[in-house]
Amino acid sequence: MSKLKENSNLELKNGARIAVLGGGPAGSFFSIFALKLAKQIGKDIDLTIFEQKSFLNEGPSSCNMCAGVVSESLVQLLAIEGIILKPPILQRAIDTYNFQTISGDVLLNSPSLQRGIATVYRGGGPVNKSASETNGDDTHKKISFDDFLIDCAKKEGAKVVNIRIDKIELNNDKPEIFSKGEKLFDADLVVGGCGINATTAKMFEGLGIGYTHPSVIKAFQSEIHLGKTNVLTRFGNAIHIFLINQPDVKFAAITPKGSYVTVSMLGKDITKQSVVDFLSNPLVKNKFPDSWSTPDAFCRCVPKINVGAARHPFADRIVMIGDASSARLYKDGIGSAYMTAKAAANTAILYGISDTDFHKHYYPTCKAINRDNFFGSLMFAVTDTVNKTPIIRESLLRLLRNEQKHPESGYKCSTVLWDMFTGNERYTDIFVRAIDPRLLLTFLINIFSIIFIRFKTIWRQ
Ligand SMILES: Cc1cc2nc3c(=O)[nH]c(=O)nc-3n(C[C@H](O)[C@H](O)[C@H](O)COP(=O)(O)OP(=O)(O)OC[C@H]3O[C@@H](n4cnc5c(N)ncnc54)[C@H](O)[C@@H]3O)c2cc1C
Repeated sequence: MSKLKENSNLELKNGARIAVLGGGPAGSFFSIFALKLAKQIGKDIDLTIFEQKSFLNEGPSSCNMCAGVVSESLVQLLAIEGIILKPPILQRAIDTYNFQTISGDVLLNSPSLQRGIATVYRGGGPVNKSASETNGDDTHKKISFDDFLIDCAKKEGAKVVNIRIDKIELNNDKPEIFSKGEKLFDADLVVGGCGINATTAKMFEGLGIGYTHPSVIKAFQSEIHLGKTNVLTRFGNAIHIFLINQPDVKFAAITPKGSYVTVSMLGKDITKQSVVDFLSNPLVKNKFPDSWSTPDAFCRCVPKINVGAARHPFADRIVMIGDASSARLYKDGIGSAYMTAKAAANTAILYGISDTDFHKHYYPTCKAINRDNFFGSLMFAVTDTVNKTPIIRESLLRLLRNEQKHPESGYKCSTVLWDMFTGNERYTDIFVRAIDPRLLLTFLINIFSIIFIRFKTIWRQ
């Protein structure tokens, strides 16, 4: 398939040149792990990250456009690697989830639930952010998570070049990379950490290596300024999930940061007007100060989200990672970037860089994510149905509230929801816990109780 010479014995020799396309989480994680591992086994590699953005400026053009929630499990994995998230990179530590439905809300917060989820900005913060407000004393410090990871990669020895790679050719033994018509070098290995928001993944498709980029849907992301005190008093350390049946909106969440809240919406054809409608919904408006009204202009972007795995994300001397390969459905994309980057780095440094090596040692990680997403899609379909069916929705709320009131009976349903929305656990494990017969029986009892209460109310009228 590839125009490169087929070779199952390709490996990185001393002095090998690696081109990492993209300095998002996947590209930086790959660089950190590859350089660390190479050092440990005494191999000398020359690794360059090519990143077209500067993450230091404000607004979408300097940002990798996401809600910026780093799951508890990833916060811990990063700490083990010596990558510690603290202010000014860390915007807020989350310890609570608030589920808001049209039948009421429930706070999931208990000592047995996981804590330590981090919220971050991927770029330099919202456009036109008020310097005095966003970070207080940290105003002049760098706040970008992506820039922080690139710095970690630099500390391991990565070179970083701030340009766009616009062409790759496979005419010789090695892939050649180009920018603005100039050939930069022949790479021993090209790593595609380019995400799905640029056209770069399509460039890899055009190489004829059998790679097909992942299927995507559009999301809408807005940064709404509220002021530090309002964010704290109105949203606290809780991510608010809204299941309010707004037409064409599949999912809406508000994540508190410094003096802004990030509004993330998924669905068909979401526009600025959908965000305005969402913010005007009484259940949402209620969370904002009385005197507050939706501003005419706010920082917003329309990023894509990976909802289906790439096909054949590797070839001789090429490996695709992060969003350009496989990502967990709707959750923990940064965690998926970590997993795929680590598996690709291990393969490249310890086993080899041929199609066969990546198939044998890297692809199982992608396949595990893809298989797990099958259970994820089942779980989200069930949540959707629950949310659209009033009796079942009320039963769920009743069950969750009971669990919160009586922790001694265990947090079975609470932890299922918590893990699903935080991305802390594999969907497969959550699914197995969700079909626990005792939990299903309790749920059924709650459904019958709600039907009985409704019947009694009608009977009395
Ligand atoms: C609305 C929304 C909310 C999300 N919320 C979360 C969340 O809260 N938590 C979470 O974990 N995940 C979240 N995600 C998913 C997360 O954003 C991605 O999974 C993650 O960013 C993937 O990392 P990546 O490095 O693979 O790609 P990206 O972050 O997209 O990085 C790719 C990088 O490559 C660079 N690049 C591309 N092409 C070139 C080129 N030709 N030359 C040079 N540079 C290039 C880009 O500039 C970019 O910096 C969200 C996604 C969306 C859409």
